[in-house]
Amino acid sequence: MSTLPSCPKCSSEFTYEDGDLYICPECAHEWSGLAVAPIETSRVYRDSAGNVLQDGDTVTVIKDLKLKGSAGAVKMGTKVKNIRLVDSDHDIDCKIDGFGAMSLKSEFVKKV
Ligand SMILES: [Zn+2]
Repeated sequence: MSTLPSCPKCSSEFTYEDGDLYICPECAHEWSGLAVAPIETSRVYRDSAGNVLQDGDTVTVIKDLKLKGSAGAVKMGTKVKNIRLVDSDHDIDCKIDGFGAMSLKSEFVKKV
């Protein structure tokens, strides 16, 4: 059983070695076996319009969002500053004035 790492790009397990390089036969990605970093999550976060989101971005909420366990809702157009991206279903951690810390889905926001 080979212990070669799977491809960091497409996660293929059919990686093979060529000298110091690892090569993925599925997506043709090549990378150095000497400098293999721990596999990063290469998740790309996009807002409702397809813009790439990054930590610290400011977004606006594009629809009224009901809050669990509360009668309130975050209104459409609410500005959310300094978002933090997390790898989960609700992929944006943020603080909203008047609501405090909460999690949003990137599909319900738009980058400002
Ligand atoms: Zn690959």
